[in-house]
Amino acid sequence: MSLQIAKALENENVVFTKNDLLEILSFTGDEQLKELFKVSTQVKHKYVGNSVYLRGLVELSNICQKDCLYCGIRKSHTQNRYEMSDEEVIKAAEFAFDRQLASMVIQSGERQDEKFISRIERLLKQVRYITGPDFGITLSCGEQSYKTYKKWFDAGANRYLLRIESTNQRLFKMIHPDDGKHSYETRMECLHFLKDIGYQTGTGVMIGLPTQTLEDLADDLLFFRDFDIHMVGMGPFLEHPGVPLYHFKDQVPSKHRRYELSLIMIAALRILMKDINIASTTALETIKLGARDQGLMIGANVMMPNLTPHRYRESYLLYSDKSCLRQELDQNFQNILIKAKELGMEVCLGRSGDSLHFSRS
Ligand code: SAH
Repeated sequence: MSLQIAKALENENVVFTKNDLLEILSFTGDEQLKELFKVSTQVKHKYVGNSVYLRGLVELSNICQKDCLYCGIRKSHTQNRYEMSDEEVIKAAEFAFDRQLASMVIQSGERQDEKFISRIERLLKQVRYITGPDFGITLSCGEQSYKTYKKWFDAGANRYLLRIESTNQRLFKMIHPDDGKHSYETRMECLHFLKDIGYQTGTGVMIGLPTQTLEDLADDLLFFRDFDIHMVGMGPFLEHPGVPLYHFKDQVPSKHRRYELSLIMIAALRILMKDINIASTTALETIKLGARDQGLMIGANVMMPNLTPHRYRESYLLYSDKSCLRQELDQNFQNILIKAKELGMEVCLGRSGDSLHFSRS
């Protein structure tokens, strides 16, 4: 580790350059990583506490109009398509509310038809009515018009997740089809819409995409900072045998490397943006058992227990071998509480966990 970086890690007010970030992302070996994680853990404790917020995840539907080349629910992938019923969504919201998770995420394949838009609006109103004003409701339903985002915001959603996937535009093009429906500019425009409307805005990237470099990841981190994002969810890219990007599997780093890089990205981001919310993702747990807990220990402060009814889960496989497919809701919830205690971490029940960065902006 260079003296400059060692100093930078100790000095909270330092402004990181791209070269600094590149050096951090290049850390390898136990010694360097231990040092990095020590600092990122300290920063986490100081700025967002030794804590974890829970968001109950509802995977509303795998019906999708998009054809992202990496994604298991892409339009062209032959599989059962489902939509959860209103009752099922409300039941999940009640579970999150009753157990004091205090927030939920409604995620879905992307659709822009009127039926879908008004259904989401209706569901939001119902959930908001049941849960009251202090409950966090996040949407993750892809790219929409300004009008739709505004409609959903007015109906009760207060957070939105839309990953940029990669800020390298060449890579973005490589992982999306050239069919007029997938553009970097539109994705970026949507992120601006969300912020303008007043959502706590989240984005993220996949780590270990074919041909992705450390420089790309440094640029991703700088984008989060320069866009002044409120929350980030990022995790390893996982190859899915049923989708086109699988053909590039030989150009993807090893699983161990993707796991390691994902933790390094979380740590670097925590040091770079001290008071944002950072999720430790299911993808991270999928690439290595126990890695989600590690992510929480070294910088992340959010996790999303899955509340989707079991009969749908096998159909919402964004990637293969997805973790946590079979756990019962209550058992899973209890396990999280036990595990957090073991790790000496506080589970923030009853508090919706707004991004402090958002509240201060
Ligand atoms: N349709 C919505 C939400 C579903 S996809 C949207 O596009 O925002 C949610 C996220 O899952 C994506 O943003 C992507 O980053 C991640 N994902 C999809 N396929 C993946 C894969 N093969 N490996 C890792 N993450 C993947």
